[in-house]
Amino acid sequence: MKKLKWWILGISAASVLSLLVAMGVIFTLFSGSLNGHNCDSSDNPSIEVSSRPSGSYTDKNSEEYKNAKAIFETLTKEVGFSGAGAAGAIGNSIGESGLKLHNPNTGGGVNGLFQWSGWGNNINGSRITSEGSIKAGDVSTLTLENELKLMKFELNGAYKKVKTLVGKETDVKKATMNWFLYYEGMLGNEDQYGSLREGGAEWAYQEFGGASISANDSILGGTTEASSDGQKEGNDSDYAECGSDDDSVVSGEWTWPFASVSKEGPKLVGEQNFGKSESRTGGFHDGVDFGDAQYNGDVRAIHGGKIVKILKPGDMNVNFFLIWEVTDDGYGIAYQEFASDLSDISVREGDTVSTGDKIGVSRKGETGINDTHLHLGITKEKDLGKALSKSFTDDGTWLNPVETIKKGIGD
Ligand SMILES: [Zn+2]
Repeated sequence: MKKLKWWILGISAASVLSLLVAMGVIFTLFSGSLNGHNCDSSDNPSIEVSSRPSGSYTDKNSEEYKNAKAIFETLTKEVGFSGAGAAGAIGNSIGESGLKLHNPNTGGGVNGLFQWSGWGNNINGSRITSEGSIKAGDVSTLTLENELKLMKFELNGAYKKVKTLVGKETDVKKATMNWFLYYEGMLGNEDQYGSLREGGAEWAYQEFGGASISANDSILGGTTEASSDGQKEGNDSDYAECGSDDDSVVSGEWTWPFASVSKEGPKLVGEQNFGKSESRTGGFHDGVDFGDAQYNGDVRAIHGGKIVKILKPGDMNVNFFLIWEVTDDGYGIAYQEFASDLSDISVREGDTVSTGDKIGVSRKGETGINDTHLHLGITKEKDLGKALSKSFTDDGTWLNPVETIKKGIGD
């Protein structure tokens, strides 16, 4: 009996070992491609994961083919996308829904060509109803026309950044990845890129003659600044989120949280200022307070980035609403205490925002305890829990927001 057990153990150990080796091989293959963020890599980042097109969309008589063609024409003719950019979007629709107008994911509550949130539930947001034509749960509203309307609405609104980032792209792979990261909102979830998007995008690029269509800057709009040295983007071997010197709207720019703040900066007094504080625990104020008597109305993103977390009173031991944004150049930004309920917050976890985008509203004269001002905190710590643990400690974790923004704006 004893002998037999050792024999079984030997077999199990061998199989565990071979499994580990196999996982190691897979990891090595993928880390080169999916961690395509390593900005010094000049090789073709994701070639291993692209696969040959398969599926009904290659059949010219299928609904899926019709949908792909409609996405391509809408993006190139009406939004000003390059052929590569439009192909990247189609590759993502293939990866998301298989180019189906109605392909619900029950758990995630998403549906439609790009698997927009808010169809079955709102746990991932409520994008699908944002334009107004599609009603959550009502299949009759999931028409090609309505879905294209929603796509355009988002590209001209909350996802404007994608319009410039993907719309100007000349490289199909980069367009596909950037649509995935910034339209699908998958920054930080690159492991879900999958194998269908790139092959699908390449197929669309060939099928619809993408190579002959360049971006139309006059329709894309608002891209004059970026296009002035736009060659940089075309020749870059890296994805746009790499390097803070990239001229895409994702990086770099700073602004004040209220449009009414003058160029010289906000007028803050006494305890509203950053740093030494008479009244607070630890004698330290980890941000600045914009009192709503003077600064009210739309609260704007001070820098582009991803909305990683939205805290409600009671979450993580805070007693106020807090929006936590992480920028692609490594800042964590806390916008807190301006909201009295979720209706004052206009972003969702997973959204990406550009500098100046509205993220909420601070209403003048609200009388609650924790919604009388916008407290703005900036840190180089990207982990919210760690940053909050230093709320009362002046050890350099929290930076002076006024100085940081001023330096960022320049001049
Ligand atoms: Zn404060």
